[in-house]
Amino acid sequence: MADILRFADYLGPAKIIQVYEPTIDLKAVLVIDNIAMGPAIGGIRVAPDVSIDECIRLARTMTLKNAAAGLSHGGGKTVVYADPKVPKTEKERLIRALASALRNFPEYVMGPDMGTDEECMAWIKDEISNHNVTGLPAEAGGIPIDQIGATAWGIRHAIEVAIPCCVFPPGFTLAKARLAVQGFGAVGKNAARFLVERGAVLVGAADSQGSVYDPDGLDVDELIRLKEADKSVVNYPRGQKFDRDGIIDFECDIWIPAARPDVINEDNVHRLKAKLVVEGANIPVTPGAEKYLHEKGILCIPDFIANSGGVICAAMEYRGKIESEALDVIEHKIRSNTRLILEESKARNILPREAATNLAVARVTKAMSFKRWSIY
Ligand code: NAD
Repeated sequence: MADILRFADYLGPAKIIQVYEPTIDLKAVLVIDNIAMGPAIGGIRVAPDVSIDECIRLARTMTLKNAAAGLSHGGGKTVVYADPKVPKTEKERLIRALASALRNFPEYVMGPDMGTDEECMAWIKDEISNHNVTGLPAEAGGIPIDQIGATAWGIRHAIEVAIPCCVFPPGFTLAKARLAVQGFGAVGKNAARFLVERGAVLVGAADSQGSVYDPDGLDVDELIRLKEADKSVVNYPRGQKFDRDGIIDFECDIWIPAARPDVINEDNVHRLKAKLVVEGANIPVTPGAEKYLHEKGILCIPDFIANSGGVICAAMEYRGKIESEALDVIEHKIRSNTRLILEESKARNILPREAATNLAVARVTKAMSFKRWSIY
């Protein structure tokens, strides 16, 4: 059997599409995991080093995320194999060519992910002139997911619900909670912003260049300004500087991975000091590391519950809703889902991820049961 089918299971993937255009060296893969609940929504990631396995796992995460959020969408993911920092003209050429190649897949709704943004989505809309793209700039009729911090808004609410379920000392609240954020992009910086607004203290931040730590608190606005000026958090003028993974060792209460997959794994999970890990990134903690955290009494809110704000916002945009409606829906869905999976996890002594997966898979398999071809 072809090697590419080794991940096929009872949910998908339904289709794996290779996109190749030699004249501009466009190399991409689209994985449509499962569309029983509706057209697959999933971001376009521009990165040089994402394996097909990782793309398949990311598409599955989207299936579960959309189902858990009660959206009538399946899951997909596209990877464009390129440096996300290529000059803008080159990126525009790649994204427009990709849009052309995928124009005949109505079962896939494109959106932004690492290495793509609202402007990329506007190029796609211009190129294919159809409805199958979300995460557009406001000027192109969208709700700018990253600009408003839709995903981070959901993370803030997941944290508020999770705190009373953690082994913090009595009376512990978000106000004064020490926070470390790995990845200071759209998700990480906005999560830091929303949580600091609620009184939390950002003690650590990291990006691909390194980490910075200050137990007295980092200035979020100053860090955001540095990132907007294309600098790194290690250019922050105060605090102690460490290498990229130094943030894993920082003393803190809440640790938010908001960068890449598998950053916390069996080799380094024992270094985390936090009592609450909230997965802003997709699949940032390996299954073995999540099990370790559970056994140590450290609560870990899984990605497809905690970071579903972005896709909920995309689905709202797809339905013509406005920003304030989207934020309300994100708040409501993420608070109730976080509560639901934590209750289930406690009652059955299972990992929060298992409780969340059970919830999502039950919905997807029910939707599959209504169909002639289960996942198409
Ligand atoms: P982004 O490109 O805006 O930011 C990524 C940040 O991570 C950058 O600061 C980068 O320097 C840093 N980084 C990269 N590798 C790192 C590493 N190994 N260690 C520390 N920092 C590192 O991306 P984003 O949109 O913020 O997305 C971050 C993660 O969240 C991704 O996994 C993405 O799939 C996931 N996610 C994003 C959204 C969204 O709405 N943007 C929604 C759901 C999930």
